[in-house]
Amino acid sequence: MKESYDALWENCLSIIKKNVNEKSFDTWFKPIKPIKFESDVLTIQVPNRFFYDWIEEHYLTTLKKSIYQVLGPNGQLEYKIVVDKNTQRQIEKPIDLSRIKNPFVIPGLKRSKVQSNINPKYTFDNYIAGDCNRLGRSAGEAIAKKPGGTAFNPLVIYGGVGLGKTHLAHAIGNAILAKDNTHNVYYQTTEAFTTQIVNAIKNNSIQDLLNYYQLIDTLIIDDIQFLSGREKTQDIFFNIFNQLQQTNKQIILTSDKPPKDLEGISDRLINRFKWGLTADVKAPDFETRLAIIEAKLGTDIEKVPKKVMEFVCFNIKKNIRELEGVLISLMAHANLNDESVDINLAKDVIRKFVSHENKSISVENIAKLVAEHFSVSMDKLHSNTRKRDVVTARQLSMYLAKNFTKSSLKEIGHHLGGKDHSTVIYSINTVKDLIHTDPLFKETVAELKKKVELSLMN
Ligand code: ADP
Ligand code: MG
Repeated sequence: MKESYDALWENCLSIIKKNVNEKSFDTWFKPIKPIKFESDVLTIQVPNRFFYDWIEEHYLTTLKKSIYQVLGPNGQLEYKIVVDKNTQRQIEKPIDLSRIKNPFVIPGLKRSKVQSNINPKYTFDNYIAGDCNRLGRSAGEAIAKKPGGTAFNPLVIYGGVGLGKTHLAHAIGNAILAKDNTHNVYYQTTEAFTTQIVNAIKNNSIQDLLNYYQLIDTLIIDDIQFLSGREKTQDIFFNIFNQLQQTNKQIILTSDKPPKDLEGISDRLINRFKWGLTADVKAPDFETRLAIIEAKLGTDIEKVPKKVMEFVCFNIKKNIRELEGVLISLMAHANLNDESVDINLAKDVIRKFVSHENKSISVENIAKLVAEHFSVSMDKLHSNTRKRDVVTARQLSMYLAKNFTKSSLKEIGHHLGGKDHSTVIYSINTVKDLIHTDPLFKETVAELKKKVELSLMN
């Protein structure tokens, strides 16, 4: 009898309602439909696997309580997951654009085509091969032939700043699209991904976001180290990841360190990251650096004597973006002053450009700079005081230490009053959020950054 299970679920809901806040209730319980009641088992239908996981993880006790009160001690709950079993059907389900306001879907196509965010500039053709990137490159090429159909799922590309991770990730995306432009490739930075999720939570549209991610065939998320300390984002990413993986979709991630060294990211996610292939990109050797620069310069190559190019490549070893920067700035100087590009000019530019490549600053010295700026004593900075200006100074010190030193979160916390690594992550994220929302604070941060940079040059 329909009324009976409807009524039973209604009773459960009225109990649940008393135990969860209104927003959660609307998000997680309203979409549930009761569909059957038979021998003490009430079956409810949830929109997808993610709902099920989320409810089990966050509302199990509340649910159990309500079932017990309504159905008695033998009462049981069974879930039925609707669309999950048949992803195909869900993909073809028309999207209610008026409700989603989804900026990424191009309407009017039979199968929703996702705007890829792939930069056409970064291809395999202009990605110079070398020992430094052999593994990632060949895995990428294999994936491009058969996205989702290789053992490299996920592919995690890791390595230092400016070594070509983003370029490689886009190259894979471009190669996939060149072969099949109906394939839904989607590139997103971790920062943008986090913002999407924060907004979806605010607007109660997590479900729409999840539906959207089910349209994707190849998902590329860049710089996953920034997931650190973002627990909600990690939760939701975990579920997106599982859904894509279960349906043999391709996942490509980049990171500044290998998964095992990522801090502030849940173990279950790290474990997932290790399922496929982890490939590193290293700093290129001299010949590869030269080849990269030659390729970048294109026809401009005539303007730079070979000797100068070699000189620059010899001196800048650890970051290709910096190498490019020096070359660009070199040519700009020469153009502007009508000078020829020679070794002396190159020396000048390198000095300005990579002023602090080999210099370093300690967490302690950063803390001193910040303390001075806020007229806070070092003792206070190291204490447990929760006074506003001290807390701000401490959080800023952590943020700058993360940016300007190679210290781990644990070490940073240790130097700043014995805080644990989660406090450090929390502080860094607080600073990042404030930079986005408070222009005055943003200025303060810029000022402090300049001070740190200055002290690096001296
Ligand atoms: P990362 O994401 O690792 O910080 P990027 O992918 O942004 O680095 O690379 C920095 C710059 O160096 C980009 O302009 C990129 O095109 C260039 N680059 C890096 N590796 C290569 C390569 N193997 N061949 C050509 N250009 C490269
Ligand atoms: Mg990058």
